[in-house]
Amino acid sequence: MENLFRLADHEDFFSRRCIWVNGPVIIGAGPSGLATAACLKQQGVPFIILERADCIASLWQKRTYDRLKLHLPKQFCQLPNLPFPDDFPEYPSKKQFINYLETYANKFEINPQFNECVQSARYDETSGLWRVKTNEVEYICRWLVVATGENAECVTPEIEGLSQFKGDVIHACDYKSGQVFKGKKVLVVGCGNSGMELSLDLSNHQALPSMVVRSSVHVLPREIFGISTFELAVMMLKWLPLWIVDKLLLILTWFILGNMEKYGIKRPSMGPLELKNTEGKTPVLNIGTLEKIRSGHIKVVPGIKRLNNNEVEFVNGEKLDIDAVVLATGYRSNVPSWLQEGEFFSKNGYPKMPFPHGWKGNSGIYAVGFTKRGLSGASSDAIQIAKDIGKVWKKETKQKKQRTTACHRRCISQF
Ligand SMILES: Cc1cc2nc3c(=O)[nH]c(=O)nc-3n(C[C@H](O)[C@H](O)[C@H](O)COP(=O)(O)OP(=O)(O)OC[C@H]3O[C@@H](n4cnc5c(N)ncnc54)[C@H](O)[C@@H]3O)c2cc1C
Repeated sequence: MENLFRLADHEDFFSRRCIWVNGPVIIGAGPSGLATAACLKQQGVPFIILERADCIASLWQKRTYDRLKLHLPKQFCQLPNLPFPDDFPEYPSKKQFINYLETYANKFEINPQFNECVQSARYDETSGLWRVKTNEVEYICRWLVVATGENAECVTPEIEGLSQFKGDVIHACDYKSGQVFKGKKVLVVGCGNSGMELSLDLSNHQALPSMVVRSSVHVLPREIFGISTFELAVMMLKWLPLWIVDKLLLILTWFILGNMEKYGIKRPSMGPLELKNTEGKTPVLNIGTLEKIRSGHIKVVPGIKRLNNNEVEFVNGEKLDIDAVVLATGYRSNVPSWLQEGEFFSKNGYPKMPFPHGWKGNSGIYAVGFTKRGLSGASSDAIQIAKDIGKVWKKETKQKKQRTTACHRRCISQF
């Protein structure tokens, strides 16, 4: 790679190969990393992308179920500088989205370095540079772009008796289709978008799902009067305060979906948008699960007390025989496990400053895709980051033309 300078080959001297990166190191080749890379290309800034998997968008390619479609309309999910093809449906399928991302990477000539898992990254105060370590290599750079995603690791809850449970237990990230569960009684733990959709998929494949709804949840119709609920909310927010939009959404939802409380689905006291803004909890968009709950094909059950051999006991004392458990219990960021820094990122793996201020830290660190606003948040981060780095890059490369490039090498030789 032309933008890499090998600094040392003496493996016995340095424990890892040491590589100077002329530009930022982007960690993660999901939609956020790709979007940042494309925007940096436009600014003429060289970069490298390190990706732990062997492909781009590994979350979408390897850890999502077959029937998945984008939850939001396509215009809210496209990455900068490349709209979705006109013949794509309003809600592109997972396969279409992956094709789009492949096209995106090809168009902007983005070639991530695969199978490179970042194990640590720390800022060296003395040199003013970042040191990023993977298995075999240490990269040294001035800018670090964290694009490892909000969903880097699966969250598995502690449930009493889970390890003694005799049936299959899988996380939603390993669920592909309900076909393998045909005729089986499946406990789906979690009632977010994934839990709701997996329950629907199980039911469509003649399994018998019971979905755990431990607390309250906002379920909204995916569309209202033929307009996506998300789009409608965005439109209304231009004119009305958030609390009124919340009230309107709930009234419209009540007319369309009716009262779900008698089926065990309680609404939080806070409105859906307020809850999203304050706690980051995304409302569930109904794509048919509620109808299946009403018809009795999906059972709603309360929180779990414990699991026994082939049985679950709920907090209300009721018991149910089950054959398998699907944990739709979400994901978390893995940033705290490798980033040795405590100023920009907090312990929960998100930037301390909320959207729209969480994209830039001090010392040349950036975060893309940690806005709890899905792909549209990632795109807006990517554009800002590339502009910010591009500005400095252009200024400095103009000056450097008069100087020699050897200053970088001198700088690195300190390590
Ligand atoms: C089932 C599901 C459905 C979703 N549907 C939508 C939707 O419809 N619309 C929407 O806007 N959002 C949706 N999302 C949210 C989704 O997270 C984003 O759309 C998008 O994938 C975020 O992109 P990202 O690049 O930030 O993160 P990711 O897609 O998670 O990509 C991060 C990349 O970083 C890599 N990585 C992680 N750690 C390391 C490391 N230490 N070293 C090197 N590489 C590393 C990972 O392998 C991964 O490839 C959905 C999420 C899920 C789980």
